[in-house]
Amino acid sequence: MSTPKRFPASLKPAAAPQRELLMPQRHLHQATRDAARLARPSGTGLDGGAVRRRMVERLRAEGQFDERVLAAMAAVPRHEFVDSALAAQAYEDTALPIGHGQTISKPSVVAHMLGLLMAGHSARERGSLGRAMEIGTGCGYQAAVIAMLARQLTSIERLQGLHDKARLNLQRIALPRAPRLVWGDGRVGHAPSGPFDSIIAAAGGEDIPPAWTEQLAPGGRLIAPTASSGRGQVLVVLDHVVDGGVSRWLRTEHEAVLFVPLKSGIV
Ligand code: SAH
Repeated sequence: MSTPKRFPASLKPAAAPQRELLMPQRHLHQATRDAARLARPSGTGLDGGAVRRRMVERLRAEGQFDERVLAAMAAVPRHEFVDSALAAQAYEDTALPIGHGQTISKPSVVAHMLGLLMAGHSARERGSLGRAMEIGTGCGYQAAVIAMLARQLTSIERLQGLHDKARLNLQRIALPRAPRLVWGDGRVGHAPSGPFDSIIAAAGGEDIPPAWTEQLAPGGRLIAPTASSGRGQVLVVLDHVVDGGVSRWLRTEHEAVLFVPLKSGIV
């Protein structure tokens, strides 16, 4: 809007602004833009994918992550899974609070763990995580990334508040297949959906619950933050290997990590 340059203001309106105001398509155009802003209240330019691609480029520059995992992460809008007040930090390599005293893992940790899963025997053969189970749905971010890499995903959360939140978050984004979300104690796994080619825990326990080992398919791989004597919590990888018809579970320990605790029961 132009301001009058002299006082008293001329009654003759300035030509250019009036012509603009009289163009109905200008109002429509503006209304469409306003509606788009309302539908995406963040308005921070996070929806276009450029910030997400930059996050993935930074991870790629570190040179150690699986390309298929990075492609999946480039497709999932992480800011849609955190509180709008934290959306601007969604593409930094940092853990963020998701309510109920829980956190969404750092992007580099998600990329690392899913990369280790993709290197398991079954996943290498299929080029996918196959039938997967996640323990600790949280806000649903990692579930969305896994859904891009798996044939089928079952994700379990013990806190009903987060289970419901994840359902809403996941409904808002486009995924090749919707994950099966279960409100329950993940320590017992989910036998009806198993056996699983890939199992990943997002919470750290004292041990690996027997149900997870039982529900791990031959050739399958499990990754879970687990207490290790003398080293605190470390990433443990368990492979179900079948040799001459006999099953063995090979355990390897990776680096020290710090995940929220794996708890029993549901709330
Ligand atoms: N993958 C999640 C990270 C969530 S943090 C994300 O992307 O947001 C770990 C989650 O594990 C928490 O929500 C916590 O409530 C859940 N959790 C802890 N113990 C559990 C159990 N026994 N069964 C299922 N979920 C559990």
